[in-house]
Parts: sequence; C-alpha cells; structure tokens
Amino acid sequence: MSTYLILFATIAIIYYLQIHKRPPVKTDWEKLPDLADYKKLEKSVNEEGQLCCRYCANKTINKRLLQSKKENPDNTKHYHACSECKIVLWRSVNEGVKEQQ
Ligand SMILES: [Zn+2]
Repeated sequence: MSTYLILFATIAIIYYLQIHKRPPVKTDWEKLPDLADYKKLEKSVNEEGQLCCRYCANKTINKRLLQSKKENPDNTKHYHACSECKIVLWRSVNEGVKEQQ
C-alpha cells in the first residue's frame, strides 16, 4: 500500500514540477525582435548602412499598431512590416505615449 502512495506522490511531484517549469506563453508580438535585436540579424542593414528588409532588401518599412485590445490596451505596441513582402520584421513600444487609433 505504501509503495503505491510513494509512487503516487512521486508522480504528483513530477507533474507539479513539469507544469511550473514551463515558461509563460509568449504572444506572437513578444516573439518579434526589437529594433536593436533586428539590427544584429543578417542582412537587416544594407551596404549603405540603411535599415532594410532582411528578406527582400526593401527600405520601406511600415509601422503599424498592434490591433489587440488584450495585448495592447494602451496602444503603445507597434510592429514594423516590409512594404514589399509584408513580413513583420521587428516590434517597438512607445513608452508613455498613448496614440489614438
Ligand atoms: Zn521585404
């Protein structure tokens, strides 16, 4: 009987540790690099030292507001996407600035 209790306790502890070891779920926006990290990536800056899309080398990057009330309650979070290939390249936060949509 006590063997079962020990076994049960062990499983319970392992289960508990597994759950609490998991890092908090990151949102898609949080997975994006910030501008400083983006600049460290390959091909993020062209030969003239200008910031550009690392996928197609286009220099026009559009800044867009993150459209999520839950993730972006203060409208301070933005993402920057290439105007050509539409790939989202990096994220930014306007600290203390509240923008109207
Ligand atoms: Zn592009």
